[in-house]
Amino acid sequence: MVDTLIVGAGTAGCLLAARLSADPDHVVRLVEAGQVWGSADSIPREVLRADLMPIGPESPWVWRYRALLAAGGVVPDTVTELVRGRLLGGSGAINGGYFVRAPAGDFASWSEELRGDPSRGDWSFDSVLPAYRDIERDHDFGSAPGHGATGPIPVRRVTDPAPVAVEFTSAAAEAGFAEIADLNAVPGAPVGFGPVPCNVEAGSRIGTATAYLLPALARPNLSVSGGILVTRIRFHGTRAVGVDYRAGELSGTIEADRVVVCAGAVESAALLLRSGIGTPAQLRELGIPVISEAPTGAWFSDHPEIGVEYGLDIGPARPGVPLEYVLTLDDIEIRPYSIPFTPEPGIHRLGVALMRPHSSGVLRLRGADPQHPPVLEHRYLSEEYDRAALSAAVDLAGDVLARIPGARISSIPHGGADSAWLRANLGTSQHLSGTCRMGVDADERAVVDPRFRVRGVSGLSVVDLSVAPVPLSRGPQATVMMIAERAAGYLTS
Ligand SMILES: Cc1cc2nc3c(=O)[nH]c(=O)nc-3n(C[C@H](O)[C@H](O)[C@H](O)COP(=O)(O)OP(=O)(O)OC[C@H]3O[C@@H](n4cnc5c(N)ncnc54)[C@H](O)[C@@H]3O)c2cc1C
Repeated sequence: MVDTLIVGAGTAGCLLAARLSADPDHVVRLVEAGQVWGSADSIPREVLRADLMPIGPESPWVWRYRALLAAGGVVPDTVTELVRGRLLGGSGAINGGYFVRAPAGDFASWSEELRGDPSRGDWSFDSVLPAYRDIERDHDFGSAPGHGATGPIPVRRVTDPAPVAVEFTSAAAEAGFAEIADLNAVPGAPVGFGPVPCNVEAGSRIGTATAYLLPALARPNLSVSGGILVTRIRFHGTRAVGVDYRAGELSGTIEADRVVVCAGAVESAALLLRSGIGTPAQLRELGIPVISEAPTGAWFSDHPEIGVEYGLDIGPARPGVPLEYVLTLDDIEIRPYSIPFTPEPGIHRLGVALMRPHSSGVLRLRGADPQHPPVLEHRYLSEEYDRAALSAAVDLAGDVLARIPGARISSIPHGGADSAWLRANLGTSQHLSGTCRMGVDADERAVVDPRFRVRGVSGLSVVDLSVAPVPLSRGPQATVMMIAERAAGYLTS
């Protein structure tokens, strides 16, 4: 019998499986829809390489979704493709390697969401800091206050930045911004530019699959299987007792004492909905029996990102990480990518991202069949605050770019970026979160409680980026690992 069945061997699932199986008396089974490997040596090099994100049209390693970023009205809809990792390590195995913690202010907001609950204090910055610290082996600042030097995830900053990063940082300094040596210094949220802490070693991305799960694979109480698509959670009444799955042409059932869903912010919500945890009227319309009423998928957040193209003849890109430096201003990040986004030589991209958007999106099922990807509507730019903040940030980005000798920035309109221009250049950072939000009993948006348990049922938890109840001011992967660390503590206590 399986004690804990974990659905999804992604960033959170791999860490959680390793932590729970450290108890030899606890039987853990981890199932993953994509491919899994038994050692780091057998993982294809194109998956490990930190200078590549293997997400192109031919990639076999991703889930793909059509997302409506902003609905039309008088202008055409803004539609894009979202990807998520579908392989051992999940999205953490295909991502940009940026490893920045969320600042203390985010946890003040997070705790505020849990007002009235005795475990509110568990989500203060001081409470989560030990988990962030335990994860990292920071090669640059490991002995600094609030840092770790012995954790499984190596963290380093670039020492030999690419020419585009050098030019951008000189321009940012000239524009009056300070350099920040450590973007992970506590309590976080400084204003300025600095080298991005990255979870990279010897040119390879090191996520939770390689750092946590693979070293634990020899444990007799841990089993990991790939190619298993979990289609539904099974219930006896309102108690989760296992899952149904498909493996190619085969299908089957796995029974377990407890099911923990770590399928990522899109698929965790989709799985809960397919299993009958959602809005009753919508579930009935799709012919799904209702197990428990919950606002699953109804309040997600994601970072809108405006792509600003500019010309600069500066020589070919060289292997590194996609983003070596970042300019950060509270809820704005300006990202001088060092990888090309177009085949045209001399054309580079700045990403201008709003980190705490006021708009929230909606995820819905299209049908009960797991082969039907869910509908994703981001509702970007629907709030005046978001439009104004992004417009001001694009102006600022233009001001910095204008200080780079030889930069051609005709893409930014004179007189400011209006809504139509923002729409035309709108993208997403692919950081979708909050589809199964954590919250207190009285919170109508909450799907899980402050200890990750799905409300209204028993034996079922969600542990991944789905649970974040507030937008994160930084890229999410370091925080997903912290979430999984915290969950491991709760699930073993
Ligand atoms: C292209 C890209 C680049 C990114 N770059 C960065 C970055 O540089 N820095 C940063 O901080 N963040 C980045 N992110 C975001 C970050 O990587 C993710 O938010 C984070 O990895 C999510 O972790 P998770 O555990 O919630 O989900 P995931 O890591 O996505 O794991 C979910 C796992 O569950 C599996 N699964 C899903 N459904 C099922 C099912 N029904 N049955 C079985 N298995 C299932 C999936 O295949 C996957 O392996 C990036 C994201 C993307 C997509």
